[in-house]
Amino acid sequence: MEQTEKINVEHFTELLAKFIALLVIRLPDDVMAKLAELSQRETSPLGRVLYEAIKDDLSLAAQLKRPLCQDTGILQFTVRVGSNFPWRNKVSEVLRQAVLRATREVPLRPNAVEIFTHVNSGNNTGTRIPWIDWAVIPDRDDIYIYGYVAGGGCSLPGTAKVFMPLEGLEGVVRYIFDQITSYGINACPPLLVGVGLAGSMDVAAKLSKTALLRPIGTSNPDAATADLEQRLTDGLNALGIGPGGLGGEASVLGVHVEQAARHPATLAAAISTGCWALRRALIRLDADLNYEVLSHKGAVL
Ligand code: SF4
Repeated sequence: MEQTEKINVEHFTELLAKFIALLVIRLPDDVMAKLAELSQRETSPLGRVLYEAIKDDLSLAAQLKRPLCQDTGILQFTVRVGSNFPWRNKVSEVLRQAVLRATREVPLRPNAVEIFTHVNSGNNTGTRIPWIDWAVIPDRDDIYIYGYVAGGGCSLPGTAKVFMPLEGLEGVVRYIFDQITSYGINACPPLLVGVGLAGSMDVAAKLSKTALLRPIGTSNPDAATADLEQRLTDGLNALGIGPGGLGGEASVLGVHVEQAARHPATLAAAISTGCWALRRALIRLDADLNYEVLSHKGAVL
């Protein structure tokens, strides 16, 4: 690697290590705003205590520059790379190096455990981890990287099921309520519920995760899907799960649904949940590695 290229790759790695630090220390603007709104609306005394504890936690994390939750998760990245981005061949390795560096420097709890040996690498990297989901955007020279912290109690125990189409959306809605009232309660509510609907489990699962990346407060552009999102939000809130599952006004930060056309014989649904500590961030870098953190206004790396 020639000297200028080496310097640029080092700079790219340093930026992404700092981006990961931001991701685990500070919640994105949309989640902060929603938590503030829900805390204002909370009437249950225990619920109010929980929101105060969340506020203290967030301010201590910012002050001490420490992760806002002990579970710093498995790091997952969704990368939308321009076909002309000059550093596209380096992105995988840069992300891996950035994870290693952030694990040492922030520090992050090591969470990458190999399936058969049960060995924890101690550095948050392992087989196919950090996980990277790729898409190439033609004729562009920039890159968008979503970072996501998938915690062991919230996003990682997602679930999926393939229904007979005759069970219809009623079957899907029953399934969502069953899941949220069982494992969802343990996932540190209020939750962002991501639902994927498709013809197969793999597509539904991927869409349920895509749904979590969409900013809170936005609706699916399709009117019927947006209507389902609103009904699910109202219905889950009416359960009164409340912050921490201890009872209160809101069970969810929101419900986001993404869909793909299905096969006539199948209707697959998948659920991914983000907890109140919904740590996701989005950065855009141009060809010269100038950056903007789109999820955290004013953030300087
Ligand atoms: S569910 Fe979220 S807030 Fe609760 S321990 Fe897991 S990562 Fe932390």
